[in-house]
Amino acid sequence: MKNILLLGATGSIGNSVLSVIEQNKDILNLYGIAARNNSAKVKTIIKKFSPNHVYLEDQDAYKSTSELFPNTSFLNTDKDLEDLISSEDVDIVISAIVGFAGLKTSFIAANAGKKILIANKESIVAAGDIFMKLADSKGAEIIPIDSEHNAIFQCLPSNKSTKDVNNIIITASGGPFIGTPISELTEVKPEDALNHPNWEMGSKISIDSATLVNKCLELIEARYLFNLNQKYFDLVIHPQSIVHSVVTYVDGSSIAQLSNPNMEVPIANALGGNQKLPISFKDINFSNLDLNFINFPSDRSSLEELARNICDTGGSSGLVFNAANEIAVEYFLKNQIKFSQIYDVIFRTFELIPLSNPADIETLNELNIEARMEAKKVIKSLS
Ligand code: NDP
Ligand code: MG
Repeated sequence: MKNILLLGATGSIGNSVLSVIEQNKDILNLYGIAARNNSAKVKTIIKKFSPNHVYLEDQDAYKSTSELFPNTSFLNTDKDLEDLISSEDVDIVISAIVGFAGLKTSFIAANAGKKILIANKESIVAAGDIFMKLADSKGAEIIPIDSEHNAIFQCLPSNKSTKDVNNIIITASGGPFIGTPISELTEVKPEDALNHPNWEMGSKISIDSATLVNKCLELIEARYLFNLNQKYFDLVIHPQSIVHSVVTYVDGSSIAQLSNPNMEVPIANALGGNQKLPISFKDINFSNLDLNFINFPSDRSSLEELARNICDTGGSSGLVFNAANEIAVEYFLKNQIKFSQIYDVIFRTFELIPLSNPADIETLNELNIEARMEAKKVIKSLS
């Protein structure tokens, strides 16, 4: 039996993880969960899975929920959360908190040398150099859940060596506005941008998918996870979201991973390791398959170029990119900036902040606060 600690249990990834656990109860046990304040969802999870430990960041949610379950251990302090993540009883940590907020827990898990199934790409983008080094030095195993990265992981040989790799395609669905130039997207509303054709996801990543910033975050994520130069990766639009990545080797053979779009597939793969975990799922109907691959849109080439520069530069560049994007998405979701202004916020914030080489998580946290403040100033200057 594997004991799982699910960070971000009340979110979209959390939901998919719970479904995979439920379908494989004989070998997977939900040992602990963490969320911010969604007590309604936490109550449902406790009733169904009886986790030993429940962390709620929000004080009020923690108080009101813990009173209802006197036999469950409820946690609310940073120290409690750190002890839980580092506990010897935890076999697998799933990092599925959204945004930079997930960085702290990813670091604790890496420091404790855990097996980490990582969905929280923002941690890797913002802190790739330090995070991967820490994980390596502490013997933490990092397994990607993000579907494209999990696909690459599956297409690599069992020792995960990339020495014979020639090229890797990271596919992108293109989001709800596929084929529409930015110039025609000025007036789109959050509800339009949230309406993804293939995937059901949390609001932040849905907007990232609509802007295609998600694919740029994923390029940076891939550069760190597989320790490869960005030149190895191509970003390609594939509207059906069936082929999640393609790895081409020096001998000319290309290996791809395919499935219908559903996050339970990469999650089951990451949780199962060498063992294939059964999930109830609609297989691909190959007789009806029509697959298209289209170049990344030319009006997003400066965005892609910025992401490629970030891959080459490292240091604080990914952090600034991520912070500016998080603020821009937050303000767009509140209807306080236009869709096309998300790009302006990213580029202008990036120009304003001098880059540096943070050495530890404390410095990363300070830089993150600065970058977010700068992005807010940029937003003020837009209106
Ligand atoms: P959601 O918005 O659906 O869920 C976010 C989760 O994070 C919730 O459980 C939320 O708790 C929790 N959370 C937020 N802030 C904190 C905090 N400070 N402390 C503790 N918990 C917190 O996001 P998604 O599930 O869509 O995405 C999660 C991560 O996975 C993101 O990094 C995303 O990029 C990545 N990802 C998601 C995919 C998807 O299909 N959804 C695909 C690939 C990657 P609460 O509900 O209480 O606020
Ligand atoms: Mg992805």
